[in-house]
Amino acid sequence: MEDVSSPERCRETRPGPGEVLLKVAGAGACHSDVAIFQDYDTDFNPAGLPTGFILGHENAGWVEELGEGVSGFEIGDAYLVYGPIGCGRCKACSRGQDTYCENAATNPYPGVGLGRDGGMAEYVSVPARNLVPLGDADPAAAAPLADAGLTPYHAIKLALPKLAGADKYALVIGLGGLGLLGVQILKALTGATIIATDMKEEAMAEAEQLGAITVAGGDDEVAKIREITGGDGVNAAFDFVGVTSTINAAMQSMAVQGRLTVLGIAGKPYEWTFYTTPYEVELTNSYWGTIEDLHEVAELFRAGKIAPKITRYPMDKALDAYQDLVDGKISGRAVVTPNE
Ligand code: NAD
Ligand code: ZN
Repeated sequence: MEDVSSPERCRETRPGPGEVLLKVAGAGACHSDVAIFQDYDTDFNPAGLPTGFILGHENAGWVEELGEGVSGFEIGDAYLVYGPIGCGRCKACSRGQDTYCENAATNPYPGVGLGRDGGMAEYVSVPARNLVPLGDADPAAAAPLADAGLTPYHAIKLALPKLAGADKYALVIGLGGLGLLGVQILKALTGATIIATDMKEEAMAEAEQLGAITVAGGDDEVAKIREITGGDGVNAAFDFVGVTSTINAAMQSMAVQGRLTVLGIAGKPYEWTFYTTPYEVELTNSYWGTIEDLHEVAELFRAGKIAPKITRYPMDKALDAYQDLVDGKISGRAVVTPNE
């Protein structure tokens, strides 16, 4: 084994028992990070995060070193990182759904880059169980799949019964990192007509290129969506914003027995009454996805069926990546590439 104490390696992290140290190829800048560094303080900290950790929960890289007890990995191989870290023992963790760990309240942190050092660094240490193989795919290009791919994938998979069969419509609201991958995943998994909306022209143009019909946000948005669907409404909707106006627009656009999943964490309220929506419309949320889902997302990527649109930022421009995200200047995903 190499001498890890040599200064030119610039490597402070060592893999703990059961962990693997990755040389980071790419770390995606997610809008959830913005919520963490702008909104979280001692009074508002819904995820219960401790302070003082490196951001980056959307990571991919190359195996650098194996921790105690770890085998089955080749140094240099590329992996995508499943970010959530549960207790590993409860029913939810046993099915690879660490996001809904039953012991979340007593776990030390919820995930890589969430209370524990993440991928906005040259190296990151992660549990071996959280690694999903990428084969010969470019890990920097794949990094956004770990959240911007996995989160819509999980929600779309759960909504698939609503989109099965002919003449089905899906609505995607918010065409940023997650939403644009959401459009691609809907294309890959369903035959549904995809309607997409955003406030940014450029984001809508991207969605059109990916095969969606776009409708500009505003007063006649719902009427236009209903018109496209022949009056029936959409069978599944995915709101990657989550403010009152987007939830309202989605709920008013639903078909009978449709399903709206709110994924944006703006956390704004929506007022429902018996008369607000067509019959049996479901409103739900979901958080990230399962390890199995991430394997499937990686397979879609490796098969060329989905491809995150990324802008690369070197390590010394990582703060610019976040600033550009805050300023709405990113199309697709900003990925920090610390080792390029
Ligand atoms: P992003 O900044 O890349 O994209 C957001 C997009 O929404 C932008 O294109 C923006 O123009 C658009 N938008 C903003 N307000 C809008 C409105 N009122 N109507 C229409 N479009 C609007 O963000 P992202 O990284 O894709 O994240 C999207 C949301 O998902 C964030 O709230 C983020 O925190 C959340 N998120 C949730 C999960 C989860 O597990 N549920 C996981 C990751 C991110
Ligand atoms: Zn658990």
